[in-house]
Amino acid sequence: MDIHEYQAKEILARFGVPIPRGGLAYSPEQASYRCTEIGGSAWVVKAQVHTGGRGAAGGVRLCHSDRAVEDAANSMFGRRLVTSQSGPRGKLIYRVYVEEATDVARELYFGIVLDRRIERVVIIASAEGGMEIEELARSKPEVLVRTTIDPAAGFLEFQGREIAFALDLQPAQIAEASRIFRCAYRAFRDLDATMLEINPLAVTGKGSIVALDAKMAFDDNALFRHLEISELRDRSQEDARESHAADRGLAYVGLDGDIGCMINGAGLAMATMDMIKVAGGEPANFLDIGGGASPQRVLKAFRAVLQDANVKAMLINIFAGVNRCDWVAEGIVAAFKQLDVKVPVVVRLAGTHVEQGQRILRDSGLPLITADTLAEAAHKAVAAVGAKVG
Ligand code: GDP
Ligand code: MN
Repeated sequence: MDIHEYQAKEILARFGVPIPRGGLAYSPEQASYRCTEIGGSAWVVKAQVHTGGRGAAGGVRLCHSDRAVEDAANSMFGRRLVTSQSGPRGKLIYRVYVEEATDVARELYFGIVLDRRIERVVIIASAEGGMEIEELARSKPEVLVRTTIDPAAGFLEFQGREIAFALDLQPAQIAEASRIFRCAYRAFRDLDATMLEINPLAVTGKGSIVALDAKMAFDDNALFRHLEISELRDRSQEDARESHAADRGLAYVGLDGDIGCMINGAGLAMATMDMIKVAGGEPANFLDIGGGASPQRVLKAFRAVLQDANVKAMLINIFAGVNRCDWVAEGIVAAFKQLDVKVPVVVRLAGTHVEQGQRILRDSGLPLITADTLAEAAHKAVAAVGAKVG
């Protein structure tokens, strides 16, 4: 689960990381009022959206009067901010964060991620921050410093100092920087985060160090023990298709093509996505019905897949082990009764109770397109895209 920048900053501040003074606003008037509260003569207005790359997309604006802050906020509210990372639909701006402007001398990069390959938490830092880490990794991999954390020993003092030295900090800043790294690491560890990024971590003109931007993501499977974090969920920033399915206990991934997919198991889903592409099509989404799915669950899944207006054909690929083809077939028949199915539906069933399942589909008289293999199903689905039904 992702959270907003201001929320990540609040968390980091609680753990001892210095952040600029700032306040949240839900309207342009509130934004300009924040200037009075914060004081000073320059402010930064920052769109709060779950995506990076806001700066380059007009989502971060430096202002020199409260009027300018109000105008900047006014131009942001209600807009969908499209950035290099947000996807083409962008993310709705309905709150902005107003911060005192920082006199930035240097921009550093600091990030903590989970390296699944080596099964360790890894800290990535760079003396050149500000730009996106992916871009940095591509153009200048040599400026990235990687530090692996041993889970038994935790983040050690000397590692903090080593990172600070690698960032070319002044001797007087080394202790403060390594303290900040430790605080950030504690926040990451204590809250079961999967990602923490401070980019830029700024060195100010006066030489102090402050987190100018902050991003955190959390392990969904650990949210049950961090209620204060799960409360930070913001549905307006999620793919509506995915939150609809997640609320119903379905594993759903939204994509950009036009073939909706209902499959059992993530591995079979991957293979099906590949096969659709080989057949020349593009999946719109895939939904994993999981194991032992009841007809009711199949019906729910059917509804979730069809909710995506981009779906022009549907592919159901079930390789039943724990599942039962007859239950899946009953779910499909129920879906046709209860939903207004306007797109062609290709069904491939295999495994447990396959004969019963196929008989139910045949006896139903529904205009289904059946297939015996995955390859055949994928080709038929691609060919059926956009075809009229009924
Ligand atoms: P992102 O583009 O979504 O990563 O948003 P950031 O919060 O990182 O802001 C983008 C850029 O705006 C930063 O890299 C800074 O260069 C600049 N910026 C943000 N806040 C300030 C500030 O207070 N003072 C100055 N001078 N620049 C800032
Ligand atoms: Mn940033």
